[in-house]
Amino acid sequence: MRQSGERPMSGAPTGVDRRGAVTRISSFLAAAAAWLRLSVTRRPTGEHHEAPSSAPTRRLRKIATEEAFTIPEVSAAMLEVVRRGGPALDLKLWTLVYNTTPVEPTVARAPSAAGVDRDALARQFLPRLLDVEHARLAEMDASGVDVHLLSLVSPGVQMLERDTAVSLARLSNDRLSETIRRHPTRFAGLACFAPQDPAAAAKEMERAIQSLKLNGFLVNSHTNGVYLDDQRCWPILEAAEALDAPLYIHPRAPSDGMAAPFRDYRLEGSIWGYGMETGTHAVRLMLSGVLDRFPRLRIVLGHMGEALPFWLWRLDYMASPGSRAALKNSLKPSEYMQRNFSITTSGLEDPLALRYVIEKIGVERVMWAIDYPFQQTEGSVAFIESAPLSETEREQIAHRNAERIFRIAD
Ligand code: MN
Repeated sequence: MRQSGERPMSGAPTGVDRRGAVTRISSFLAAAAAWLRLSVTRRPTGEHHEAPSSAPTRRLRKIATEEAFTIPEVSAAMLEVVRRGGPALDLKLWTLVYNTTPVEPTVARAPSAAGVDRDALARQFLPRLLDVEHARLAEMDASGVDVHLLSLVSPGVQMLERDTAVSLARLSNDRLSETIRRHPTRFAGLACFAPQDPAAAAKEMERAIQSLKLNGFLVNSHTNGVYLDDQRCWPILEAAEALDAPLYIHPRAPSDGMAAPFRDYRLEGSIWGYGMETGTHAVRLMLSGVLDRFPRLRIVLGHMGEALPFWLWRLDYMASPGSRAALKNSLKPSEYMQRNFSITTSGLEDPLALRYVIEKIGVERVMWAIDYPFQQTEGSVAFIESAPLSETEREQIAHRNAERIFRIAD
């Protein structure tokens, strides 16, 4: 990665190019937002601006907890990253998103349909990420989604040069808090930070909670191959614990050190690699002992817990405290899960998996999420409204747990 102050490699985009890219993205966004508004207004409108009616079933309040956005400046910086290229597996998806002419969003076929062109869908992500207050709000209205808990899209600022990452994290958090201030009942937000500079990250985390009043943090797994159990990252964990704000560990593609078998068949992404990378990150936190050093750290995992709930019995069996010299944990993995972790349902709309995690780790640790714009709002809404849950469980997962864990007003 380039060091600060070094000149770009030959042919690398200049600041002027970046401004040009921002302008192009902004004008495209305006057109795409108008198009999306049009398409959304054709749908039946939701009823949730109206007072509770005499309808037989109460409308379910829904807080979606893993919802991505970006800002033009981060988008332009990511365009430079994908144009520079390199071995990082994340580049496969983000090259499709940033280094193509954005395509007007269309929903020709359900994304789960056989033969759907997922790479073509990826080229439609950028306008949806850049838009927060127009087409997105209209879609939330149409589907009866009350709140998006917003976070800067993966990989955040974590693939940028250190100083750029620090300044764009601040800018992104500022924009996020301004958006929330304009729509305080519709949006909440998780701050980003630059793990490349842990001291600056800790400072930004403090500002995000104390000044910007954001609801927690989101980090996209490793940064340059470094995981949060690394002692260099402890200031980040210390800040999260001291601020008593949850840290959402969101996926990105496997780090270079574990990348090789994920290079074929597009295994690096949400199909498999994201979960392996992020689940491994969480197990490192458990077995490294950092959760003993920071016992009140609150961590959130997406995608039904990145497979950890399913593995808990085996983790406990193989990693009981003190059973191997390499293990640094003082508690069983399941005890850390019960003390330090919550999970969300993002991108895994399987009723059986949902019942399993409720039985395994407790309904109070499970929150609903869409994973907008990568998953479809309608499918995620249908999932939480129809899943085999008691009405109490449904309300806990749809909004009450999120209100408690992220301190979102009810
Ligand atoms: Mn996501």
